[in-house]
Amino acid sequence: MQHFPIFLHVANRPLLVAGGGDAALAKLRLLLKTTGRISLFAVAPLVEIEELAAQGRLTLIRRAFQPGDASDAALVYAASEDDAEDARVAAIARAEGALVNLVDNLADSQFLTPAIVDRDPVVVAIGTEGTAPVLARAIKADVEARLSPTLGTLARIASPFRHRAEALPHGTPRRAFWAAYFGATGPRVHAIGGDGALIPALESLLGQHLTAEPAKGHVTFVGAGPGDPELLTLKARKALDAADVVLHDRLIAPPILELARREALIVDVGKQGFGPGADQATINDLLIHHATQGQQVVRLKSGDSGVFGRLDEEISALDPHGIGYSVVPGITAAAAAAAAIGQSLTQRGRNGSVRIMTGHDVAGFAEQDWKALSRPGEVAAIYMAKRASRFLQGRLMMHGAAADTAVTLVENASRPDQRIVAATLRTLPEAAADLTGPAILLYGIAPRNAAKALPNLPEAPNSSGPMEALS
Ligand code: SAH
Repeated sequence: MQHFPIFLHVANRPLLVAGGGDAALAKLRLLLKTTGRISLFAVAPLVEIEELAAQGRLTLIRRAFQPGDASDAALVYAASEDDAEDARVAAIARAEGALVNLVDNLADSQFLTPAIVDRDPVVVAIGTEGTAPVLARAIKADVEARLSPTLGTLARIASPFRHRAEALPHGTPRRAFWAAYFGATGPRVHAIGGDGALIPALESLLGQHLTAEPAKGHVTFVGAGPGDPELLTLKARKALDAADVVLHDRLIAPPILELARREALIVDVGKQGFGPGADQATINDLLIHHATQGQQVVRLKSGDSGVFGRLDEEISALDPHGIGYSVVPGITAAAAAAAAIGQSLTQRGRNGSVRIMTGHDVAGFAEQDWKALSRPGEVAAIYMAKRASRFLQGRLMMHGAAADTAVTLVENASRPDQRIVAATLRTLPEAAADLTGPAILLYGIAPRNAAKALPNLPEAPNSSGPMEALS
């Protein structure tokens, strides 16, 4: 981020515009939303600017900007549409300690003006560091459509009520009160009774919330999917929005954690496959500790919580404490990996079942029904298979699986660094050797486009070219 977004206090402070053409008028439209004192310097301003001056909305100074003009200014816009003149104005303003923006000159500007959605006192500022104004406008349109026009009124009228709401305990109870006001009571009451009805509505809503049973803690087990934040379910997003505490696994991608409430306590309880990490008892204790304090806890697991996620152990730990829970399913790595290679996990005429298995478990390499798996046409999604690849190869071939059975490794499925390695049972250990991220092994299926080319692949094939287009 090269520009840090802040909201600058400009009430009653001088805001200066040098220039009297269209660029100046565009900036004026934004500045006029503030309670700053606007002055505009131009010898021959547009008639629209003259009118604004006549209405008393700004002070028009009919001369060029000169030294001394910016001595107590908060902001100066150099908007003359003439590079040399803008540079002159900017030099004066900077020397006199004002922040300067040169219109259409990002490099020499000290600040830039965001696209603004105005529901004063609620203001949304959208910036793209000057790289994509079109995108900023599109986002603005999106946000405009989402925020009710009455939002500003609701916020303004509720503002003096904030200290009254402090009678509610900090955290979930107070949040629930404001969520009910902004999300339901406020808009409904305002639509019928207008501004005047809002304070009485706040009074009665607060009364209800003060006498309500204290919120019970709750644990939501949320499947975060394979890593791409767009593969989160809407329910997962809602749960993250409402969480007081998020306990997450090591595999959860940072962009997903970004979606948690800023005030939420975020704890990495990552369990490394073979290394140290919080043990299960510690995780259970944390879940119980936070939930019994009345907090909304999200237990965030990669993929689906119910697939090699030790979900049952954690639910069983909650039960004796009477802690309520719910489970939000997620997209498991097998589904994301199959999607990445353009294949389905089951296929009419090929395989009517698919096994979800693990390469190793707490006891070491995991034994499976190798005989059944070795039959032609079998398909399995094998989690945690990387280090077990030689073991898997040995067991399967010993039970008669063909050496040229297709196996596909998908590393970091759905993430920007996703990698697909098409191999056969014969080349599996070499193919798995240089994987570093989480990877899943799809046994019995090849990437769709690589299927025909497979027999010609070298001994240790790496990322399959044709799949780039699909991934
Ligand atoms: N509950 C998870 C699985 C947890 S076990 C799920 O449903 O996906 C951890 C294993 O999942 C990893 O060792 C790896 O085999 C697999 N895995 C998780 N995320 C993955 C990803 N983005 N790409 C490939 N494999 C992944």
